[in-house]
Amino acid sequence: MSLRRSQRERRPSRKEGFQYDWSLPRGRPTPKSWSILEVLKRIDQDRVLVRWNPTNGREWPDSPVDLRINPELRARLEKNGSNPKVKAFKDQQMAIEPRELGALRQLIYDNLGNRYTPSKEGHSRRVTVTLPFPESSFRRLFLQKLSIPICQELLEEQPLENCFGQRAISILPGETMEELDAILGESWGDRTFNTNTVCSVIKEEEILVSWGYKKRELFSHKNCPRCNWDKESGERRPEACTTTVSYLVGEAELSFTFSRRRGLWEPGMM
Ligand SMILES: [Zn+2]
Repeated sequence: MSLRRSQRERRPSRKEGFQYDWSLPRGRPTPKSWSILEVLKRIDQDRVLVRWNPTNGREWPDSPVDLRINPELRARLEKNGSNPKVKAFKDQQMAIEPRELGALRQLIYDNLGNRYTPSKEGHSRRVTVTLPFPESSFRRLFLQKLSIPICQELLEEQPLENCFGQRAISILPGETMEELDAILGESWGDRTFNTNTVCSVIKEEEILVSWGYKKRELFSHKNCPRCNWDKESGERRPEACTTTVSYLVGEAELSFTFSRRRGLWEPGMM
């Protein structure tokens, strides 16, 4: 980080005339530009504790910086609120464990951006999010924690085959929805904004969780008589292709399907 510390600026006082605001720093030699090595923590709404880069081999003690007189630093910090390495936000960051669930929460959040809609009630829409999800995590985080009979059956299956379509897990309002709440953590289904608008997962509607290895086929025409037909050979060109198929092997994936709707903040939401 090479941010300037504080740029003293002239501010008109409320009274008449001008005066300098010398609020920071006090009683210390002040080089023209100080560069910040690291922001260590947030002290309060407007102040952070920083570690300074040594200047000319000389080290400086950690000290507070007022963000009101360093808008450059404030803007830079604010862009990184979701970065777990930026310590200034440690107390404000919601980390979701384990990481597979964090990734799912991230995708759900991204699909709850329905902040402005033309209708007053907000229209609802069905959304599916898909992400890589290991079999062991699917077993541990979903099959073992949901008390739906199909989950018990699937747990006994070795190897576990695709749970798509008819084999997808259907989560309905009521008890299993509460189990899902416990799996995904607090406020997983509500994205709040700085107004009282909220975009929410509609928990009165079915949520579908499916898992498996999606089939991804590739067809080779390398040895296909039709595609390699030689005009000079005198043979008739085959009507149809003869291919060999390969299957692309990748990560197992979880798909999560829900309905969302824009609404207003209510007690119980974050
Ligand atoms: Zn062919």
